[in-house]
Amino acid sequence: MPAISTRSVPTKRYSWLWDKSDLNTYYEQTYYELQLVDIPGYCDCKNDCRLAEHRYAIDKYYSHIACALQKATCLSIKRVPCRSLKPYWNEHLDKLKEDSVFWHRLWVYAGRPSSKTMQQIRLSCKAMHKLAIRNAYNQFEDKMNAELYSHFINKKSLISGKAGVQNLGKY
Ligand SMILES: [Zn+2]
Repeated sequence: MPAISTRSVPTKRYSWLWDKSDLNTYYEQTYYELQLVDIPGYCDCKNDCRLAEHRYAIDKYYSHIACALQKATCLSIKRVPCRSLKPYWNEHLDKLKEDSVFWHRLWVYAGRPSSKTMQQIRLSCKAMHKLAIRNAYNQFEDKMNAELYSHFINKKSLISGKAGVQNLGKY
């Protein structure tokens, strides 16, 4: 039986869902992590201090602060893979995608059979996923168009309203 492909996958990139996370937890975590950062002993330097040792200490201090914030973020803020941030994407699409990928891998693992139930399930999962993406995209576009249209109408009535006021001023 052929092995499931072990081709290396590029590192996943994530987007942080700040508006869907508990910020109090983040602040607490930040407080905790920052307390662990050592403060360099050169804080009373003059503004233009050029001592290499001091500059190095400041760089180190800076990167420790950045690490502490990064760690606090990782521990307390929800994240999603970047790909799912397409504006029309939703959890239902994620689920369909998982199903589609699962059945595809299973089909590959089984030696890519051409006329079996597995092939039918695989293809129907794939079709369902594609169709759902198309539908979600179309719905999103319709919604955007409707919003754009209503903005346009509002602006138009605002402009004609302003023109009316200006005209009134002339008389
Ligand atoms: Zn200094």
